[in-house]
Amino acid sequence: MILVLKKGITPEEKNHIKEVLTADGCIVREIAGTEETILGAVGKVTRDLRYYQLLPGVVKVVPISKPYKLVSREIHPEDTLVRVGNVVVGGDRIVVIAGPCAVESREQAMTIARKVRRYGAVMFRGGAFKPRTSPYSFQGMEEEGLKILAAVREETDLRIVTEMTSPSQADLMVKYVDVVQIGARNMQNFELLKVAGRMGMPVLLKRGLAATIKEWLMAAEYILSEGNNNVILCERGIRTFETFTRNTLDLTAVPVIKKLSHLPIIIDPSHATGLREKVSPMARAAIAAGADGLIVEVHHDPEKAFSDGPQSLYPEQFERLMRDIYVIAPVVGKQVDFSYLDKEPSAEKAGVAAHPGKSKAVVFLGEYGNYSHKACAQFFGESDAMSMVPKPSFRDVFEAVKNSAADFGVVPLENSLTGSIHENYDFLLEYDVKIVGEIVLRIVHSLIVRPGTKIDDIRRVLSHPQGFQQCHEFLKRQDNWEIISVRDTATGVKRIAESSDRSTAALAGKDAAALYGMEVLKEGIETNPRNFTRFVVIAGEKTDERPGKKSSLIYATGNVPGALFKTLKIFSDNGINLVKLESRPIPGKPWEYMFYVDLEADVDAPSFIPILDQLKKETEYLKVLGSY
Ligand code: PEP
Ligand code: MN
Repeated sequence: MILVLKKGITPEEKNHIKEVLTADGCIVREIAGTEETILGAVGKVTRDLRYYQLLPGVVKVVPISKPYKLVSREIHPEDTLVRVGNVVVGGDRIVVIAGPCAVESREQAMTIARKVRRYGAVMFRGGAFKPRTSPYSFQGMEEEGLKILAAVREETDLRIVTEMTSPSQADLMVKYVDVVQIGARNMQNFELLKVAGRMGMPVLLKRGLAATIKEWLMAAEYILSEGNNNVILCERGIRTFETFTRNTLDLTAVPVIKKLSHLPIIIDPSHATGLREKVSPMARAAIAAGADGLIVEVHHDPEKAFSDGPQSLYPEQFERLMRDIYVIAPVVGKQVDFSYLDKEPSAEKAGVAAHPGKSKAVVFLGEYGNYSHKACAQFFGESDAMSMVPKPSFRDVFEAVKNSAADFGVVPLENSLTGSIHENYDFLLEYDVKIVGEIVLRIVHSLIVRPGTKIDDIRRVLSHPQGFQQCHEFLKRQDNWEIISVRDTATGVKRIAESSDRSTAALAGKDAAALYGMEVLKEGIETNPRNFTRFVVIAGEKTDERPGKKSSLIYATGNVPGALFKTLKIFSDNGINLVKLESRPIPGKPWEYMFYVDLEADVDAPSFIPILDQLKKETEYLKVLGSY
C-alpha cells in the first residue's frame, strides 16, 4: 500500500507510522518530494486499511494489491474453460443460454426449449425458485419445475441452468440440473456461495444490483476457495440514476473482467434492460465487446408469462438475434456454438455407432495451429472423442474422407479478400462427398518470431501465399525481407521453432505462436481487417437428418443461349435465395463451365423434389453436395 503523509508531519509521527508498519511485517520505503511525502509499504497486511488511515500524520492510504487471488489472471494467465457436458463456456466459442424467466408448465418449457434449440441455444434457462421482489408474486414451481427442466434436457439434450436461492436446495440442484445460478440478489449471500462452491457443479454467478466489480470478483473468490473453478460470471445490469431501463448494462465489465480474471463472462441483456426492444441491440453489443456468451429470456407467449414477459423475446426475435451474432462473432475472433450443428450425434452417425469406442477423426490440411485446425476446433468443440489429424494436401483430406479413414474433413472454400480456393471446388466435383456444415473464421495474421527477436533481426519470412497476399501492405514496408512460401501458415511457425535462426519470422495466427512457444511481435498485420475464410465440413454421407438452412449444388448446362438463366429462373420462381454462384472450367472441355451454387434452401426436403426435377431438365450434369 501507499500512505500519503500530511504536510508538516513531525519526525515523531513519521517514525511512529514506520514502526507500526514494520511491526506488521512490511518493508517500508520513504519518497520525499518538495510538495508531498509518501511511504510505500510492501508485505502481507491482514489489518483493515482504515487502521493505518487513522494513524496521526496519514492523509490517505492507497491499496496496491488486489484482495482476490484465485480468480485473478495474475495467478492463472490462461482463460478458464467451463465445461458443461459438450458445451464449453469461454475460449473461442459464443455460448447462448435461452429460455423463459420461470418454468410455468411442462408444455410451456418444452415449447420454448424446442424453439430456442432450433435457433441455436446450447443451454436452457428457467427458474424453479424465483427470488421475487413481492412475496405475492409467483414464486416458482420448485421441485416440480426442476423435474420439468430435467425432462427438457432428456428430450432436447440442452444443458440446464437454474437459480438456487437457498443452501437447502443444493441436493435438488445436483439431482436435476447442470449449472446452478446465483442470482443478483444473492451475490453476497456468503453461505449460499460456499455451498455452491462445494456442490461440484458449474456456477453462473450474476453480478449484484449494486455490486462493484471487486465485490463481484470477491464473491467468485468464495466459490473458487471451496475448490470449484467452474464459475461463469454474468453481468446483468446495475442500479444507477437512470430509470428508463430496468437497470444499466455495464458492458465495460467485459474488458475489465477479461483483464482482471481468467473466468468467462456472459451478458444477460434481458434483466439489464427490462424491455424486449432493447434486448437484441445490447446482446449484439455484448458479443462485439468480447463476451463469451449470452443468457436471454425467451417466451412463446410473453403476454401470458408469469414473470418478466415484457423483457422476453418472441422466438422469432431470438432467431434473428442468433443470425446477427453469428455474423458479429468472427469479427472478434469467435464462433457461435450452434446446437443445431449437433456435433456429437452427427459424428456418431458418421460411423462411431458401428465402431463403439473408436474416437472420431476430422482431417485438415497442414499443421496444428493453422486456420483449418482452428476451424475444426471451433466447429466440433474440444472433446476427447474427436481427434484432429493433419494431412499433407487437400487431396489427402478428400481421400481420407472418401475411404472412411476419417469421419470428417474441413477445407477452406473461399476468402473474403483473395477469393475462391479453386482446388477444393474441383475436388468437390471429383470426390463423392457431402457438405455437412460450414464455418466462417475471421483471419487475423501476426508476425511471429523466436522469443527475444527484434524486428530489425528479421531477414526472411515464411507463410502460405494467401498469408503474404493478405499482409501485402505490411510487407511492402519491409522491402529487404525474403518471402518464402510454405504449405500452410503453421508450418512456417513450426520451422522457426525447430531452428535456432533468429533472422526468420512467420506470418500466421497467434494460436500457432502459442502452440510452438514462439512470440507474437505484431498482431493484426493483415491489410484489410474484413478478412474472413469460409470453410466447409465434408463427410462420406449426410450425417444429420434435420432440416438444413443452406445447400450447395454443382451443375453444367448446355452451351446454348439462356441456359444458365433458365436454371436461375427456377430458383427465382420458387422464392429461393441464391447466395453464391461461381463458375469453373470443365476439365478437357475448353470454354465450357461448371456452376457452383449455394442456396438458402434445404435440397433434401420433400418440397425440393419438384424443384430438383425441373433443374434436372435444364442441366446436363447435376450434383447435390448437400444441405447443412
Ligand atoms: C433470473 O435470471 O431470472 C433472475 C432473477 O436474474 P437476476 O438475479 O439477474 O435478477
Ligand atoms: Mn427473469
